[in-house]
Amino acid sequence: MKKITIVVPCYNEEETVDAFFQEIGKVRESSLGDYDLEILYVDDGSSDRTLDEIRRLARSDPHVKYLSLSRNFGKEAALYAGLTHADGDYVAVMDVDMQDPPGLLPEMVSCLEKGDCQCAAARRIDRRGESRLRSFFSGCFYKLFRSLTGIQVPDGARDFRMMDRTFLDSFLELKEYNRFSKGLFDWVGYSVKWLEYENRERRRGSTKWSFWKLLVYSFDGIFAFSNTPAIISGGIGILFCLLAFLFLLIIFGRALLFGDPVAGWPSTICIILLIGGIQMFCLGILGQYLARIYSEVKGRPVYLCRETNLEQKKEDEKP
Ligand code: UDP
Ligand code: MG
Repeated sequence: MKKITIVVPCYNEEETVDAFFQEIGKVRESSLGDYDLEILYVDDGSSDRTLDEIRRLARSDPHVKYLSLSRNFGKEAALYAGLTHADGDYVAVMDVDMQDPPGLLPEMVSCLEKGDCQCAAARRIDRRGESRLRSFFSGCFYKLFRSLTGIQVPDGARDFRMMDRTFLDSFLELKEYNRFSKGLFDWVGYSVKWLEYENRERRRGSTKWSFWKLLVYSFDGIFAFSNTPAIISGGIGILFCLLAFLFLLIIFGRALLFGDPVAGWPSTICIILLIGGIQMFCLGILGQYLARIYSEVKGRPVYLCRETNLEQKKEDEKP
């Protein structure tokens, strides 16, 4: 019997963990009975009763496995932790808040079974229920991301997907610390099939992503996959050198022809401020790369695990 592992990152999700389990149970009964379906919850250092809820489910059903991280490392780290420990033939990634429709799982399995693709991924075709401002910035970010990086993340792409072992093992070879999974999933290549669905609102609880967190995350995506910002900052530097040279000629010529009256202090200050600002901006871009190099070089683990029932599973499997 083939095994499917569903990796589910959870951060302060005491209200949704059980509802997710019930929904997956329904799909298992209706269409995935031929598979050994395991849920691997990753508690990302929740401060509410999420871990208690997960432990309770794990006691009642041997198909529930969990990892609990030592603190909140962020969704990317939780995802990586779960994928590292997932041992299914097919491995899926889902959010626990029911925004990723479990009804797509059978279709994903059949795509992988037919050999049409190594990864079946989901993308939402609308953003109903999401704030306009968030949709707008998100749309802008993905356009910018695609044009700067050449990584093809379609509009509305989610982390929700199912992969076969080849795809997952390749993905896990990317051990970088600053992780932007949507980009990494595309980077590994193979054939990916996109399944479309209409957006769903979060069933319970609230989003864990503030606008600021999303902004920082979007920088992670761009700086992890593109050198274009550094190239642009270099280009701005060259442009300003050329302009300075041109102005020098003009000012020098004018002084020769018309003398050199002392005037134009306000404009001089403006120019100094403008150039100073651009220099700081370019230094900031360099700083972004430097900070990321620093965090990679330190080689700290992406996550630390404080509790799991996965060892117990290994014990059970021993003859
Ligand atoms: N999540 C996580 N760690 C975090 C933030 C979020 O594991 O630091 C999980 C969260 O519990 C959920 C998923 O990531 O299962 C997606 O989060 P959320 O629904 O808040 O994001 P949104 O759907 O609003 O983008
Ligand atoms: Mg959500």
